[in-house]
Amino acid sequence: MEDCLFCKIVSGEIPGEVVHTTERTVAFRDINAQAPTHVLVVPKAHHANAAELAAADPQASAELVLTAAAVATAEGYDDYRLVYNTGAGAGQSVFHTHLHVLAGRPLTWPPG
Ligand code: 5GP
Repeated sequence: MEDCLFCKIVSGEIPGEVVHTTERTVAFRDINAQAPTHVLVVPKAHHANAAELAAADPQASAELVLTAAAVATAEGYDDYRLVYNTGAGAGQSVFHTHLHVLAGRPLTWPPG
């Protein structure tokens, strides 16, 4: 999709520190890491948020979660947090589905 930051990272037009790829997903490090491991897992295809991805392509939605788990394991963590922000009011700033993988420090609840 034109003018979508994460589409451009998926295509390689904008550089990203990619740590894992699968048929339908790309995982790359967040530019503003909030934990020792902070990776974003995105579908290669453009969807605006988690629910839209799940409705359009349930297989890709599942693959996102499995990729996130594989990333956490590869980085040496059994304990990790997966986050989807949906809507600006919930903190979503990039409107291409992305699953945050956070690990490597104590993660408190509730989130801010
Ligand atoms: P959101 O706020 O939409 O849930 O998450 C968007 C995330 O994308 C943020 O954590 C932000 O730091 C990250 N981000 C924004 N721009 C870039 C970029 O150009 N490259 C990478 N790797 N991450 C980015």
